[in-house]
Amino acid sequence: MSRKPLLAGNWKMFKTSAQAREFFGELLKQTYKGDREIAFGVPFTSLEASVEAARGSGIIIAAQDLYWENEGAFTGEVSGPMIAAAGAGAVIIGHSERRQMFGDTGEWVNRKTRAALAAKLTPIVCIGESLADREGGRTFDLLSAQLQDAFAGFAPADMVTVVIAYEPVWAIGTGKTATPEMAEEVHAHIRKWLAGRFDQTTADNTRILYGGSVKPDNVAKLMAQPDIDGALVGGASLKAADFAQIINFDS
Ligand code: PEP
Repeated sequence: MSRKPLLAGNWKMFKTSAQAREFFGELLKQTYKGDREIAFGVPFTSLEASVEAARGSGIIIAAQDLYWENEGAFTGEVSGPMIAAAGAGAVIIGHSERRQMFGDTGEWVNRKTRAALAAKLTPIVCIGESLADREGGRTFDLLSAQLQDAFAGFAPADMVTVVIAYEPVWAIGTGKTATPEMAEEVHAHIRKWLAGRFDQTTADNTRILYGGSVKPDNVAKLMAQPDIDGALVGGASLKAADFAQIINFDS
C-alpha cells in the first residue's frame, strides 16, 4: 500500500491568468520535497495560463467543477473534455460551496465524477458535514450517504484514480480546524466505508484529503495521522510562500 501525499490548493474565485502566472513563477523558485504530489484548483479562465506556467514542474492543474455532458446548449458550463484539452489533469467535484450555493446534489456529484473519469481527469470528490449535522450527531451517517450518492453504481476499477476530500463545512474558511484526532476519526470511517462498499484494496489505495483551514502551522500534525493522505487548502493556497511551507511539512 502506498498513498503518495497530495497537497492541493483551491483558489476558488481568485486569480486572473496574469496573477496565476505570477504565482507559479514565485512558487517554482522554492524547492520542495519530492515525495509529494501538488495540485491547484484554479478558475476556468486561468486553466491554460496555469498549465503553461507550471509546465515541467509536475504540478497538476485542476478545474474546480465541470458539467457532465461533453458539449451542447448548456450556457455557462464547461465540460470534462474542454478541461482536459486545456491541459488540466484533475477536477474538484462537490465542494460544499457548490452544494450550498449552486445546488449541486449527490446525483450531480455522481454524474460529474463519471464525466471526470471519462475525460481522464482525476476527480477530487468533496464531502463534509455542517455544524448542525455534527452537533446533531449525524456526521457519520451523512458522510456515508454522501459517499453512497457520489459513487453509486461504481465498481472498484472506477475508484483507482478517485481522490476523496473530507471537508467539514464548519471548518472551511472559518479558521476552525478539526483537531487531527477528529479528522482522523472521520478519515478512518471513510476508509472503512470504502472497504465495505468496494474492497480492502480500494480502501487501502484511495487517497483521502482533509480540508478546512489547513495552514503552515497545523499541516504536519494533520498529515501525521494514519488515514490523512493530504490536504485541500483554500485560503492558504493563495500565497506562494504559505503554500510552499504547506508542501514542505515535516513528516
Ligand atoms: C476549501 O476551499 O476547500 C478550503 C478548505 O478552504 P480553507 O482552507 O480556506 O478553509
